[in-house]
Amino acid sequence: MTENAIEMVDVDKWFGDFQVLKGINLTVRTGDRVVVCGPSGSGKSTVVRCINQLEQHQKGVIKVGGVTLDGSAAAQEAIRSEVGMVFQQFNLFPHLSVMENLVLGPMKSRGLSRKEAEARARKYLDRVRIPEQADKRPSQLSGGQQQRVAIARSLCMEPRVMLFDEPTSALDPEMISEVLDVMIELAEEGMTMVVVTHEMGFARKVADQMVFMDAGEIVETGPPAEFFANPKSERCRTFLNQIL
Ligand code: ADP
Ligand code: MG
Repeated sequence: MTENAIEMVDVDKWFGDFQVLKGINLTVRTGDRVVVCGPSGSGKSTVVRCINQLEQHQKGVIKVGGVTLDGSAAAQEAIRSEVGMVFQQFNLFPHLSVMENLVLGPMKSRGLSRKEAEARARKYLDRVRIPEQADKRPSQLSGGQQQRVAIARSLCMEPRVMLFDEPTSALDPEMISEVLDVMIELAEEGMTMVVVTHEMGFARKVADQMVFMDAGEIVETGPPAEFFANPKSERCRTFLNQIL
């Protein structure tokens, strides 16, 4: 058991000639809730995609659960077993029922029997408050319900860390709170979370650490009370003024 769930040290990443991440240093302790904000194009998604190995960084060190992400089989295994991810677009399999979406991962990569996987799926559908939707297809659900299925699907893998990349940005306004409420509950249960979001009400409620990114850099970090009351950099102040 390591104390730090995620460590990024001096991480650089380029897309071709374009440096998208510049010396990123970020430590997420086990049980921490970190909220990442910043203008569009600042590198927020790239940070979370590097943490779960959807992208590879070129310099610096990323450790997840104490395992260095170096492209090795051990690193891939660490990511598969420790990290869950929820995207802006829900990424559910459209041709499968909610239940089938939920049992697939645990049966394939956790070796659960169908019965065990279904029991686990029901537990997490309960947790996200849609136990009655198990037999529907994603397209028969509202956006808020689909995103809660996506969260349940991640939880079915019982990850130690959950990454969220703008999980409510694609939702109609009236559905945002049903998803945030589920995330707040997860946070209260002690889940380690990294959440990219501009929902600052949510951030104030759950964040242990705020991170503000701009142009590929972490410009400012701090506990939310300080971060919101007293942003140190002009860039962060300007950003917060625009969204609050
Ligand atoms: P954010 O999530 O903060 O909006 P991103 O991490 O998605 O920012 O993107 C940061 C920058 O990297 C943007 O300028 C974006 O256009 C660029 N970028 C993202 N993905 C790629 C890619 N696969 N190839 C080239 N450039 C990319
Ligand atoms: Mg993004």
